[in-house]
Amino acid sequence: MSVYLDYQSAKPMDERVVEAMSPYFTRDFGNASSLHRVGDTATNALERSRAAVAHFIGAQSEEIIFTSGATEANNLALIGFAQRNKHKGDHIIISETEHISIHNIAKFLEKNGFSVSKVPVDQYGKIATQKIKDRISEKTILMSIAYANNEIGTIQPLTEIAELCKQHDIVLHTDAVAAEGLLALDIQSLNVDMMSLSSNDLYGPKGIGALFVKEGIKIVPHMIGGGQEFGLRSGSENIPGIVGMAKAAEIMAHTMPAEIERFTIYRDRLIKEILANIPNSHLNGHPTDRLANNAHFRFDGIEGESLLLALKDKEIEVSTGSACSSKTLEPSHTLIALGLLHEEAHGSLEITVGRFTQDADIDSAIQAIPKVVKQLRALSPLYKEE
Ligand code: PMP
Repeated sequence: MSVYLDYQSAKPMDERVVEAMSPYFTRDFGNASSLHRVGDTATNALERSRAAVAHFIGAQSEEIIFTSGATEANNLALIGFAQRNKHKGDHIIISETEHISIHNIAKFLEKNGFSVSKVPVDQYGKIATQKIKDRISEKTILMSIAYANNEIGTIQPLTEIAELCKQHDIVLHTDAVAAEGLLALDIQSLNVDMMSLSSNDLYGPKGIGALFVKEGIKIVPHMIGGGQEFGLRSGSENIPGIVGMAKAAEIMAHTMPAEIERFTIYRDRLIKEILANIPNSHLNGHPTDRLANNAHFRFDGIEGESLLLALKDKEIEVSTGSACSSKTLEPSHTLIALGLLHEEAHGSLEITVGRFTQDADIDSAIQAIPKVVKQLRALSPLYKEE
């Protein structure tokens, strides 16, 4: 059994979720739009699940739109809102460290008549609200800032940002995917207007997610059809997926406090041991305002990809960064935004723990990584230990 420490890229489903979904593939296979009994069963499951996901973030049921995942939720939020509200203004603000989906949606909007400002972050990946203030104009209608970063785990001052948005009548969207299960996602106290969620980050199935849209916020759909999901996302609902996401959220609400405590111990142990045992190693991201499950390093003179492959040989599965961006050879835009050089960004390693991580997994990583780094450095003509 390999040591899996890449929970940010993908999480195994919780067996209880698989069990909850199971009947909806076969016995309770109905279409929620059908008016007969089989359809009623699907409708009931759909609405129960909507209420559960809404409850998880402190929203009302009618404010939850099920989508195929957070990518679609991000598209619906940003494009749907921008197109519907263009008469109010054409300026959007995001941060430099947003998820690749937000960056690419922003590019699409720029090609379609909107202007986008990207707020920089400091060396730890944190946004200073003053930098946002400098970019707000009377044309700004929308801001999209992730609650926490999916690569380096830095947590943003979202409530402060929300306050700023309220002062300037700007709608605030947050991609909360990286924060799922690691930070409380209460939309009332966070004071956000739209929030994207992905089911897999709750240990639910992939290919399902949701967008929270606060009552009164108007958006246009981009999936046109039979008018499901309040007319905002047409197509027969993925009932097993939706039931799975809801079950995963219910479980998470109970397990979260203890899990955060356990992950923090793992994370802090990884950070302490790796930095102490590997000369010229550095922590990426914020030293304290970081997700409980995230340890992200860079090692001088090391190429992240070689490190990952050498660890793979030892059956330790880690990551060099966002799996969503692995199809490009470019260094991570998040690490570049911290001010790192290309070679520093390429020399990075992301370790993320999760529900099924055990003490022995952390022991293995702490033993293997310093050895592998030493071996790779010995082979490198560029690396000289001071
Ligand atoms: N946002 C963030 C921060 C992510 O990490 C991911 C990938 N899990 C997504 C959006 C896209 O989510 P999905 O795969 O559900 O479309």
